[in-house]
Amino acid sequence: MDDWRLRGQEEYLKHLTFYKVRFPDFWIKAYAEKNAFYQMISTEAHRFVEQMRRGEEYLEGEKIQHFWHEHCEFCWEKATTDKECVFYCTKDMRYWVCPDCFKDFKNSFGWVEKDSTELFDEQE
Ligand SMILES: [Zn+2]
Repeated sequence: MDDWRLRGQEEYLKHLTFYKVRFPDFWIKAYAEKNAFYQMISTEAHRFVEQMRRGEEYLEGEKIQHFWHEHCEFCWEKATTDKECVFYCTKDMRYWVCPDCFKDFKNSFGWVEKDSTELFDEQE
């Protein structure tokens, strides 16, 4: 199969569990609970502000979400916390896949789908 979206992702994305995430709900919950997703954004945001010596005003409250966005690992579709969209992410929240690509590659990559509520439950 020749697909422009495939550029060697088989090497690191095969047989993984993906968690279905719905924005902006996922962010709203993260902000309320200060969970691992919030902590990840917060850590990156503070590091950025420290290094660049600017953007401090965005560390306040919910504004911190604007430090985060991701792209689909296959088609480069963009995910942000404030746009209504569904995305699938890996346990470490490092890789993100849009619904179209998830559907197209789920079987050939051997992915398991779980709900985002399970994302922070299980211990590694
Ligand atoms: Zn995609």
